[in-house]
Formats: sequence, structure tokens, C-alpha cells
Amino acid sequence: MSATDPDCLFCKIVAGEIPATVVASDERTVTFMDINPATRGHALVVPRTHARDLLEIDPDDLAAVAQAGQRLAKVAKDTLGADGINLINSCGADAWQTVFHFHLHVIPRYAGDPLKLPWVPGPGDMDKIAATGAELKEHYA
Ligand code: 5GP
Ligand code: ZN
Repeated sequence: MSATDPDCLFCKIVAGEIPATVVASDERTVTFMDINPATRGHALVVPRTHARDLLEIDPDDLAAVAQAGQRLAKVAKDTLGADGINLINSCGADAWQTVFHFHLHVIPRYAGDPLKLPWVPGPGDMDKIAATGAELKEHYA
């Protein structure tokens, strides 16, 4: 496993080669808004180091991703008024994985929202996604 896979979409986002609404980052992880949000505030946490999936990710990176996900969950609750959170990781195409760089979905849930799993991704409103990302970012103090 190399640190970066030149053909990997999320490696390109981590490297800043493809634009994304990044809301937080640390030495091991980057958190950015999903472009097809399942709910308001849906974001992804990825390790900086390329790993295909749950089976391949370095355990210390996995721990760092989990901690970043917990942090985001708290920010989403406080900032967006989320009533609940789904943390989802899909490992393998048969488990719905479509991008093969490990990622943890952090999906804020709102009482009575209509989301069912698996959700059907659809393009989000980029202005709304950017605004929600900015709101979240602001509350990471
Ligand atoms: P998976 O299906 O692998 O669990 O999740 C992949 C996620 O990546 C999907 O929710 C999808 O909307 C998101 N995604 C795919 N391409 C891009 C992109 O170019 N930018 C961002 N921010 N998210 C993406
Ligand atoms: Zn990658």
C-alpha cells in the first residue's frame, strides 16, 4: 500500500487536487462534505494515507478516523441541531462501497426525516452544501 494512489478520487481530495468542502483536518485525517448528501450535513472522514477499505486501513488511522467522526457528530448536533447520527462504513462493493479509499460516513439525522438505508445518492445543491460545511467548520474551535 502506498501513501497515495494516483488514480484515487479521495487521495486527490486529500492532496487538494480536486475541490471539496473541507470542514476539518488533522495529521491523519481529512473531513469533507459529501457531494450527494443523504441528509443536511452528511460528511465523510478519510485517512490521509490511502487504504482501500476497512480490511486494509492502518489501525491507528482507523482510530483517528473514528475520533474525527465522533468530533464531527458532536459539532453536527450542536450546530445543525441533529437529533441523531449514523456512522456508516461500507467495506466492499457488495456492502455498497463505491469509492475505494476508506471513508466513514457521518450522517446527521433529524427527527422524522425520510432517510432509508441504503440511500440513493443524488446530486446535492452545491451552494447549500458549501454553506452547511462553512457552518460546521466555524464551530470546530
Ligand atoms: P460509498 O458508496 O463508497 O460508501 O460512498 C462514497 C461517497 O462518496 C458517496 O456518498 C458519494 O456521494 C461521495 N462522493 C463521490 N464522489 C465524490 C466527490 O467527488 N466529492 C465528494 N465530496 N464526495 C464524493
Ligand atoms: Zn486514496
